[in-house]
Amino acid sequence: MTAGLASTVTSPLVVALIALLAAAAFYDFITFRRRRSTRETVYRCDACRHIYTESHRTPLARCPKCGKRNEPVRE
Ligand SMILES: [Zn+2]
Repeated sequence: MTAGLASTVTSPLVVALIALLAAAAFYDFITFRRRRSTRETVYRCDACRHIYTESHRTPLARCPKCGKRNEPVRE
């Protein structure tokens, strides 16, 4: 008796929730793939402004031009 009412009230909510979850999962999948495909980390030298990349992410990467250690520009 209450099941009919409950499903009438909750079904649009459930549909919206599933759509939201699907969108979130899809977005997660896309960003995960992008992150795996571009594993290079970009660094910009503070001393000589040289921009370079490292295939593995390290907190500090040495500049190939002047040897200064720099932090990554983006994640
Ligand atoms: Zn440099």
